[in-house]
Amino acid sequence: MPAWPGGPCPKCGEYMPEHLIHCRTCRELLNEDLKQDSVEIPSFIPMQEIESMIEVHATGFHVECPNCNRELRISRKYAGQRVKCKFCRGQFRLNLSEKSLNVHAFFAQCPHCDEELRASRKYLGAKVACKICGGKIHFPAVLN
Ligand SMILES: [Zn+2]
Ligand SMILES: [Zn+2]
Ligand SMILES: [Zn+2]
Repeated sequence: MPAWPGGPCPKCGEYMPEHLIHCRTCRELLNEDLKQDSVEIPSFIPMQEIESMIEVHATGFHVECPNCNRELRISRKYAGQRVKCKFCRGQFRLNLSEKSLNVHAFFAQCPHCDEELRASRKYLGAKVACKICGGKIHFPAVLN
């Protein structure tokens, strides 16, 4: 993976030393390689008896604002509630089972390395590996 070469954070401008994954100040993702998905399904699925597979629940969601179509990062605690877009100030209900709501991805904390992982919905219910540390994770089948 192309590691962060060191330099000013593209979001907040603070100088960040090389090989960081997230900006220490604003948590912006610095490793472009992890932007789409920071998990992958390993080509060899190890037997669960010998490899510990930790079930990890989403801590939040990357949702498209229905008003301005920009991506919002929303904590799981707002699920089912009315939320306000920070860009356009439009309000909508964070109803995860609503088909018209475009949930791009969810995020969760890797239990092995504590880094924040981003995973698209296709990984729901999948046994995956963290791209950062290689640790094995199992995501539950539904977003809730
Ligand atoms: Zn930053
Ligand atoms: Zn908006
Ligand atoms: Zn990890």
